Amino acid sequence: MSMIYYSLNYNSPESNFENATRKGLAPDKGLYFPKDITKLDDSFFDEIEKLSYSEIAFQAIKQFVGSEISESALKIIIEESINFDFPLIKIENSISTIELFHGPTMAFKDVGAHFMARCVKYFNRNKKNNVTVLVATSGDTGGAVANGFYNLDGVDVVILYPKNRVSSVQKKQLTTLGKNITAIELNGTFDDCQEMVKKAFLDKEITSKKELTSANSINIARWLPQMFYFMFAYRDLKKINKQIVFSVPSGNFGNICAGMIAQKLGFPFKKFIAANNINNVVERYLSTKIYDPVSSIQTISNAMDVGCPSNFIRIKKIYNDNYDELKSNLSVFSFSDLATRKAILKIFKNTGYIADPHGALGYLACVEYLKTNPNVHTVFLETAHPAKFLDTIEPIIKKKIKLPNQIQSIINKSEVSTEVKNYNEFKENLLRI
Ligand SMILES: *Cc1c(COP(=O)(O)O)cnc(C)c1O
Repeated sequence: MSMIYYSLNYNSPESNFENATRKGLAPDKGLYFPKDITKLDDSFFDEIEKLSYSEIAFQAIKQFVGSEISESALKIIIEESINFDFPLIKIENSISTIELFHGPTMAFKDVGAHFMARCVKYFNRNKKNNVTVLVATSGDTGGAVANGFYNLDGVDVVILYPKNRVSSVQKKQLTTLGKNITAIELNGTFDDCQEMVKKAFLDKEITSKKELTSANSINIARWLPQMFYFMFAYRDLKKINKQIVFSVPSGNFGNICAGMIAQKLGFPFKKFIAANNINNVVERYLSTKIYDPVSSIQTISNAMDVGCPSNFIRIKKIYNDNYDELKSNLSVFSFSDLATRKAILKIFKNTGYIADPHGALGYLACVEYLKTNPNVHTVFLETAHPAKFLDTIEPIIKKKIKLPNQIQSIINKSEVSTEVKNYNEFKENLLRI
């Protein structure tokens, strides 16, 4: 059995998991979306406390992968993608956080990146030509993808990031690996990077020479495994017998949208909250019904500086383009950098916990939601380790953050990247690889 994926622009042939993973974006530029999602059995939910993370992940993703990867290979891919901790930590009475940053690049994207890399490797096992993974990053994607694909035979990775808009640790993660990883910096914004990558996918001169694939959350193999986090948190919270609301620091809305797929699989989540910085196009949509993307504005939660969230179209699809249904399942709250800084300090003073700027926004959104809904339990996703944002956090809490091994080991490596100013320069570099 195969899961069928179709394009949300409705003008491409249907596809299976392998083809949709290879292509990234459908030929008509639409995002792929799974056709029939089958709810998991009641017995799965009855016994979920007894299942390991790997077992939960396998049951959840199996139908999306279908028969294109054998069950035994899929189990290994899962093991290799979630081989670190996902601790759930209580911050206040009705607020917990699930830490998703214990992987190799200390951002939640490690799971999706490693899962996708291993799927691509599996699909490429008998092929001769290299695949080129092309990815635009606002900070964390690039590092996670580079790390996920590092040293994999048959894959070249090209990462495009906006100059001076990623943190110093993020830059290290992008530019110090070498081997099959090439870093390119653009004098522009993340949205410019994303536009350029999209253009390259449609550029026949490039696609006739290279098999390109994306590794942004538009790629189903990177997007779907993100549903695991919500399931792991649910497993550990089921016993408290309260309705659960997730607060997800959101940029391209891939992570939160994966949580909504978990809900489709039968997980009884009450609601999702997207926490945003001032880049709040979806919040404005929910209050005005007008979707009006604008250029992104730089903030201290840079992974969320997205003006036009690519996964929003999937979210609309999940709720069948029904505005009222969407609005009853999703709230969005946005906050300024100043509020974010204050939240980091408040959490630290009250509990000793150090939140990163993205997690701090998640926390603020929980507090806001609980004001009118005091009886639920909220969980915000801690999407990155605070050490990735030393320059921002240390002056706020007036304390040194201990560097984890993953960061210590790269901090003194030398950075290699090429600067480009426009699409043609980018293209020249890409074709040279
Ligand atoms: C990517 C990222 C986000 C946003 O995730 P989306 O899936 O794009 O909404 C939030 N926080 C951090 C730390 C990230 O790296």
